[in-house]
Amino acid sequence: MDCKLFIIKSSGWIFLLLTALLTVPVVFAQAGDKVVIAHRAASGYLMEHNLPSVALAVAMGSDYIEQDLVMTKDDQIMVLHDPTLERVTNVAELFPGRHRQDGKYYALDFTLAEIKQLHLKEPYPNSGRFPDTTKNLQLTVPTFREELELIRGLEKTMRQDIGIYPEIKQPWLHRKEGKDISMAVLKILREFGFKSKEDKIYLQCFDPEELKRIHDELMPALQMELKLIQLIDDNNGNETKSLQWGEWLNYNYDWLSSKSGLRALSASISGIGLDKSMLVDETGNLLRPELVSDAHSLGMVVHAYTFRREKESLPPYVASFEALLEFFYFKIGVDGVFTDYCGDAVLFLQKRSPGAAATPVSREKLPPQPTVAPEAPQSPAVPMAAPVAEPESVTEPVTEPPVVPSITTAPAQISISAPGPASEPAMAPVSKPVPASEPTIPVVPALQGVGGASPGQAQPGTPVSAPSEAKYR
Ligand code: CA
Repeated sequence: MDCKLFIIKSSGWIFLLLTALLTVPVVFAQAGDKVVIAHRAASGYLMEHNLPSVALAVAMGSDYIEQDLVMTKDDQIMVLHDPTLERVTNVAELFPGRHRQDGKYYALDFTLAEIKQLHLKEPYPNSGRFPDTTKNLQLTVPTFREELELIRGLEKTMRQDIGIYPEIKQPWLHRKEGKDISMAVLKILREFGFKSKEDKIYLQCFDPEELKRIHDELMPALQMELKLIQLIDDNNGNETKSLQWGEWLNYNYDWLSSKSGLRALSASISGIGLDKSMLVDETGNLLRPELVSDAHSLGMVVHAYTFRREKESLPPYVASFEALLEFFYFKIGVDGVFTDYCGDAVLFLQKRSPGAAATPVSREKLPPQPTVAPEAPQSPAVPMAAPVAEPESVTEPVTEPPVVPSITTAPAQISISAPGPASEPAMAPVSKPVPASEPTIPVVPALQGVGGASPGQAQPGTPVSAPSEAKYR
């Protein structure tokens, strides 16, 4: 403020120039290198995974917008968290009887045209989140292409790079249907210009062998080299499975967070993403205090999920959402968080690092910012020309929603095991390399058992259940 007063007294031209710089509407979340990942877009404010929610997350200043990706019967890529439709759409009303034996309506059984007839609904309408008025709003499940079109358009009009953070969901489930979701996703990304590690994208997946395949085979075939994120699940989840001894069994992720596991990952992976309960127990004690520094020493980032501001979602060792962010960003040292409340997290980082909010972003790729035409210096007695408007606040903090149980699953009690296998893990490719010439989407046969001795091999005795429908990730 002192700076502004000085400028007002000195020169109208300088005042206007600096005011323009101070009010550039491109405000990013970073305090230092910390990033905010809009988990399922602005899902805490306007339902998950729809185009208005994406626009809102961008407007709020999120660094990255997350897309969960599943495939349709006719091989389209949709932005949908679960492989099934019933949690967030009216599919059961519109297509009764189209469920499988487990009662679920799989996107894989519907065409794009059918899915486009569905309306999104807020899955937690009584939680303090968006009211369930979706019949009027006509929000639909977006395709990945639609979302990328929107983001590329906003990049142009808002004059900023917008990061994306797509997740390839359950490759094993798609393989069972003869579909190669990873190749299909990569081809769309390439179509939209995402090719190198310099592009603002992290491509995430829970399946280590699929990520290895993406890194070693698919991306080279497409002449791409994107940053990859290895997500680490608890060992009871459904995100990664392999067919072993005739049975689909869960993956054991424990080795991934060991020192040797991290070292093995670092050859092909740019970072890890894991549940915050894997880093801290319920009393606030660090479970693996060296994990973040280990990852950093190997050149990898650490992103944690999922951060929500509802009281039921706060761990007992913090009193507020902001305290939770402070703890993870600055005590544990994670580089980014996946959060349903991206606007609140952006505000937190801006307040935590006050200078960041007023610092215009310099980006070589971007066209020049519109400039305010300098005006002739005026007499101090003459009122200054109207300065450039102050930027509107990114968002108002969301008021604390009413206490409603079951907005989230209880944090899993996960303890990361002691260092993993002594030998350096080797991850075997899942399928044959894709030819370097004009790549096509191969039809992947039903997954055969993969090496039984590899790290993370399925756990005998762990039964396979239907994919989780609402697990927060
Ligand atoms: Ca996700």
